Amino acid sequence: MVMEKALYEQLVKELSDNGVTLVAVSKTKPVEDIRLLYDYGQLDFGENYVQELTDKQPVLPQDIRWHFIGHLQRNKVKYIAPFVFLIHGVDSLKLLKEINKEAAKHNRVISVLLQVHIATEESKFGFDEKELEDSLQEAAALKNVAIKGLMGMASFTEDQHQVAAEFRVLKALYDRFGPSHAFSILSMGMSSDYRLAITNGSTMVRIGSLLFGARNYG
Ligand SMILES: *Cc1c(COP(=O)(O)O)cnc(C)c1O
Repeated sequence: MVMEKALYEQLVKELSDNGVTLVAVSKTKPVEDIRLLYDYGQLDFGENYVQELTDKQPVLPQDIRWHFIGHLQRNKVKYIAPFVFLIHGVDSLKLLKEINKEAAKHNRVISVLLQVHIATEESKFGFDEKELEDSLQEAAALKNVAIKGLMGMASFTEDQHQVAAEFRVLKALYDRFGPSHAFSILSMGMSSDYRLAITNGSTMVRIGSLLFGARNYG
């Protein structure tokens, strides 16, 4: 069930009043649902799986800005390099170099966010502070990627204080490295914690289930 238009507009207003961009996370959802939201005026959509994204992209309006928000394997970069708008979850220098290489083949500069590991869970991906610093330095030589900022995922917990603390860690890194690297995007916040993320400095939220209804998987 896609959110009603009036509620969507209310959400978008709340976000834009705070200078925050909405990425509608459409993973596992059919193209009909995406088109509904597109008809409301939504242009930024996020997907987690390369195969699903490359299936959907050709059959939907070409002015959609596709965000890749999942864990990207290096051998799959080539499939999304021709059209992807922003890759959120870059978590290694090797991956960054691969994106740079594939972007060059298409004469593109692909925008990316570096993912920072802020959760206490082992399973979440991302750089720590030192790796982030080193990678930013090395990335200066890569001409076909533009690092626009940082992305992070908080722990899966009911503890709002912990989630807020994790968001603050990410914001502090954004403030530390942002000015010298011309960052403009801090991607943090999902359906359950987007308000907390905005309070703590998010400029881009990735919202799925709130817009599209609960997922069966993914
Ligand atoms: C699925 C997903 C989201 C959206 O999650 P919801 O809780 O449905 O809003 C956001 N970010 C990432 C990286 C995701 O995988």
